[in-house]
Parts: sequence; C-alpha cells; structure tokens
Amino acid sequence: MTSRTLDGGNSLPESFRRKLKKSGGVSIPASATMQGYVADMEAKNPHMANLLLQRYVQEFTLFYEKLETLKKGPRRARLLHSLADKMVERASKESPYVPSCKKGCSFCCRIHATMVDSEAELIVDYLHVHDIKLSRSRCEKQSGLDDAGHVTKIPYEDRACPLLDEASGECRVYPVRPVQCRKYLVVSPAKDCDIRVKDKAAILVGRDVEALTAASMALETPRKLVDDGIASQLLKRIPKNDPLWTE
Ligand code: SF4
Ligand code: SF4
Repeated sequence: MTSRTLDGGNSLPESFRRKLKKSGGVSIPASATMQGYVADMEAKNPHMANLLLQRYVQEFTLFYEKLETLKKGPRRARLLHSLADKMVERASKESPYVPSCKKGCSFCCRIHATMVDSEAELIVDYLHVHDIKLSRSRCEKQSGLDDAGHVTKIPYEDRACPLLDEASGECRVYPVRPVQCRKYLVVSPAKDCDIRVKDKAAILVGRDVEALTAASMALETPRKLVDDGIASQLLKRIPKNDPLWTE
C-alpha cells in the first residue's frame, strides 16, 4: 500500500502548519488507493477533485490533532481503530455497492500491509495474551519489502501475512488488526482480489478513513514504509528468543 506525500499548501491552518514544521515536516501522506481516487476524479471533474483534496486535508488535520491527544501506544491504536470502524461502517451502508468481504476470504492478506507503532504494540500485546505463535522465517522473508517487493520478490506461497491462519483464511488478531486491513473493503467479486488472476479489485474508498490513516502515519511514521510492514514490525518488536516464534 504505497503512499505519496501531498503538499498541504494553503489548505492547512497556519497554527497546524507551524506545529508540523516543528515536528519535522508538513507532508501529508496519501495511500495508493487515495491517489487513484483523486486521479480518477481529476480526469472527470477537476473542480470536484480539488474540493475532495481540500476536505481530505481538513480531515487529516482534525484527526492528527485528535490522535495526538494520546501518547503513542495501545490506547492510541484503539482510538484509531474505533474511529476507523465507524467510518468504514458508514461508508459501506451508504455505498450502493455491497462489499464482497467475508470471514475466511483472504486474498487481501497476501499483499503488503503496514501498521504504525501504536498498532504494533497493541498487536504484540494481543499475541502474548492469546499465545499466538508466529513463523519467524515467514517474517524474515517478508521483512524489508515494500508492496512492489512483496509481489515480485517472494513466491506467492510466502506472501501470506504472518498473522493469518492460512487453513481457515481468518485473521488471528482480528479484534486488533491494523487500520490498513480495517479500511480495505472490496466491492468487486472476491476472486478479483487474487492477484494471480486479476491485477485490480474495485475498492470502496472512504475519504475520511483515508485521512485518518494518513494522520496516524504522519504522526508515527517519519521513515520509510518498508519499515512498517507487518513482518518488519513483528521482527523488530519480538526478541529472537521469545517463545512466540515457532521456527
Ligand atoms: S478484500 Fe477481497 S480478498 Fe479480502 S476479504 Fe474482501 S473480497 Fe475477500
Ligand atoms: S493483520 Fe489480519 S487482516 Fe491484516 S493482513 Fe494480516 S491476517 Fe490479514
């Protein structure tokens, strides 16, 4: 899920711009999904695209300030997740399309997903409480890859997220899964999510949840996205001798 940075330009309130400058930058990330959404809109209606971006930046500012009220850690992740769940639920209710996503459907758990530090802390706590074992070799194969590397540099059988139960197709950390997974809803047939068959599924894009995700990343990820891949985050946080590792 590659991201680019947008220049907030004049849409950012001056006080917020000053604050961001102090903390090292004014860049606003936009996911590949959001970029595609804006590009489509720009082609059809540039004025609407401009309004969309302005709203995105406003919401980004609002969510950044809201998340910032809590220290980095599991509580902030829970706030992020509860906000995201409400937005995703509303978007799926308002959409004329019915999402195809169902329990056990997991082609999407074979693409590169990331998590910010607060989410990683929450997930590692959950793994310990529920004694969920992890394959270290799987994590090592996926570590240090971005989304392009995830698809091209490792065989399909090594691409499943280390948190996936491959037999049932269910997420083993579902209640605490990252926002990247929470917001990923597809309205085309599930088989279109299998990148061995098709290279693009139709994603339901929620501007607000995209702005929220971008705010969490801007707040916590002043580094390259490869370092925030799920496998990289797990390797970084769980010591080599921890009994959670199976191999
Ligand atoms: S995104 Fe695609 S693969 Fe994932 S649950 Fe939804 S339909 Fe299934
Ligand atoms: S965290 Fe769960 S939902 Fe997200 S990619 Fe991994 S297995 Fe799938």
